[in-house]
Amino acid sequence: MIRRVYLTGVRFLIEKTELLKELQEEVEKCINCGFCESVCPTLPASGFRSSIGARGRVDIASALLGELDKNGKSSLAISESFYSCLDCFACLQVCPAGVNAGKVSHLGKSIIADSTTLEINERKAIADMIVSVTVKTMNPLGLRKECSKWSGGLEFDSASDTLFYTGNMYQLMPYSKKLSGVERMMGQKATDAMARLISSHPGLSRLTGLMKDDALEREMNRFLQDIYALLSAAKIEMNYLGEDEPYPGTFIFDLGYISEFRRYADRVTEIFHQKGVRNIITVDPHTYDLLKVQYPKYVPEFDFDVCYYTDFLDALEFEKDHALTTLHEPCHFTLREEAYNGPLKYAMKITDVVLPDRSGKKLMCCGGPDELLFGNLSDEISRERFQQLKNTGAGKVLTACPICYSNLRKDSSVQDLSTYLKTHLKI
Ligand code: SF4
Ligand code: SF4
Repeated sequence: MIRRVYLTGVRFLIEKTELLKELQEEVEKCINCGFCESVCPTLPASGFRSSIGARGRVDIASALLGELDKNGKSSLAISESFYSCLDCFACLQVCPAGVNAGKVSHLGKSIIADSTTLEINERKAIADMIVSVTVKTMNPLGLRKECSKWSGGLEFDSASDTLFYTGNMYQLMPYSKKLSGVERMMGQKATDAMARLISSHPGLSRLTGLMKDDALEREMNRFLQDIYALLSAAKIEMNYLGEDEPYPGTFIFDLGYISEFRRYADRVTEIFHQKGVRNIITVDPHTYDLLKVQYPKYVPEFDFDVCYYTDFLDALEFEKDHALTTLHEPCHFTLREEAYNGPLKYAMKITDVVLPDRSGKKLMCCGGPDELLFGNLSDEISRERFQQLKNTGAGKVLTACPICYSNLRKDSSVQDLSTYLKTHLKI
């Protein structure tokens, strides 16, 4: 027991040292040119507050490292700057020095989550709540049964080693939309008090199940059913874990709780092994990116083949659509090192896609990742992005991510790619 505690402590110290070293290496590349500010969506949305822009985040990280180097502790207020980063990586695409302010922000959040080097507690109560409920129930809101309801009446092959893995992202959107509204209505203090109560009594998380956008839930369930229908039409035999499906830990990772994420990802990997999984079909870009890129870094035993559902649709034929259509590409596909363009490829099979000026490596995020903690910022960014998509003159706007859909659905022209593909499928 003493040996285990000692080893955990040693690993924790190594992790912290590596974290600070990685942050140092990233920020010292900055030549302070400001190019990143021209593409960072949070800067204009915040009224050009420099601390809520890409260069400001790098500057704050640099100041933080300076304080830690001098005093071993920091009293800087850093949470708003790092937590408001969308993790879109638009800044990296234009930085001549190769700095990724998204990565800087993630490392900054990890320092906040660790909290041993900060004099003030910068952790967000709602982030603590999500992490503690996820660790306890393997779902951010303790709603595993609710998250499996979309599959009622559908048939899966429990003997298949190919897993249809929702990652719970489509199912959680109706709740996060409402939770964000509750914070705006009740205010920060009351929301924090509720979050702290749930953190210490994770069983109460089921109360959040009462806060749900029913109309959005119906839409999200339909998208999952349409993805299932497409894969079935392509004759893919697949298993689905239903209520046993573990959430992948996306929020835990995104919020910077790295030690917790490492342990959690171990548990998820073990469940996949126990269920005989070899191939994982993901249905959203966040889960795809997490499993494909982050899991192998943190879990050496993670040896699964991870794909996105459009990888399996080559044999299908689709009816042509002559209406002008645009696509909002997901940041977690298009702005990542290994860009993935499955959604664009399939949209182009059906229709002539007209892309907005900010597309490809110049893509602008929908603002969705900020919805829970910075609702107003998120609204402002999504309005701007929606207008850019409408300015293409297209009558239809396609999305390929539940977060993007949830944030951009400002009129009936917005549709998830799954339903668009299913509607045009030649039977
Ligand atoms: S573009 Fe790169 S080098 Fe220039 S200020 Fe931003 S992070 Fe620094
Ligand atoms: S990742 Fe996106 S939101 Fe974060 S600093 Fe870079 S451009 Fe701005």
